[in-house]
Amino acid sequence: MNNDPHQTPSTPTTILKYYDDMFNLKSTASLVSSFLSDDGRHVLVLDSTVFHPQGGGQPADGGYITDVDCSRFKFVVQDVRSKNGIVYHYGVSERNAEELEEGLQVLLSVDESKRKLNSRLHSAGHLLDLCLEKVGLSHLDPSKGYHFPDGPYVEYKGSVPQAELQSKQKELELEANNLISRGGKVSVGVYSYEEASELCGGGLPDYIPKESTPRIVKLGNYPGCPCGGTHVSNISDLVNIKVTQMRTKKGVTKVYYQIGS
Ligand SMILES: [Zn+2]
Repeated sequence: MNNDPHQTPSTPTTILKYYDDMFNLKSTASLVSSFLSDDGRHVLVLDSTVFHPQGGGQPADGGYITDVDCSRFKFVVQDVRSKNGIVYHYGVSERNAEELEEGLQVLLSVDESKRKLNSRLHSAGHLLDLCLEKVGLSHLDPSKGYHFPDGPYVEYKGSVPQAELQSKQKELELEANNLISRGGKVSVGVYSYEEASELCGGGLPDYIPKESTPRIVKLGNYPGCPCGGTHVSNISDLVNIKVTQMRTKKGVTKVYYQIGS
């Protein structure tokens, strides 16, 4: 991450609009700063954003940012990163964006097809977590996910005996597709620590601070899970899932998957 020369201790954190409404892909915002990063890319910092930055295993959104009447500049968003609560939109300007004044009102537009794919891949990872118990793998503890299109996987602490890997892979795929065909509303919300804990089956992972208000994603009536990402609106939107590989090594199990269209 490059330093923002305009960032001062008083630079406000960026309001994450997708946090409350994952399905709103357009918004207006006010320009906080505009500068060139060390590698020559143009960077825009705004007071709020609908763009999901890369993080939590989910890739950054793409799209573009323009001035309100689309006449002065068009900024193509190529990457979005977050640091200390400030979101940095990296990209190139199709029209001159060198001298943009602070406070300028801009229009944000997230690439819908890329977002949809990212959301489906992310929700699919959570769905696999929910299937573990049913297939006798409740000892696996979710540790991280890689929900990128180029080989998505979910990773768990815990092992599966080598002799069972193939059958468990098949059972997991079967159960996940079972849940997809049944469907169920996906909801996301921000809760008090106590409420969040209850929604997640009576406890939250250690990395969630006790004084925080966690954002919880809930697939159907299954226990929720803390998550900062974007998701589908119904489990059935996943259409189908293929568990392509299950691997255990050094006490870590990785489950690779693909989703159908
Ligand atoms: Zn998540």
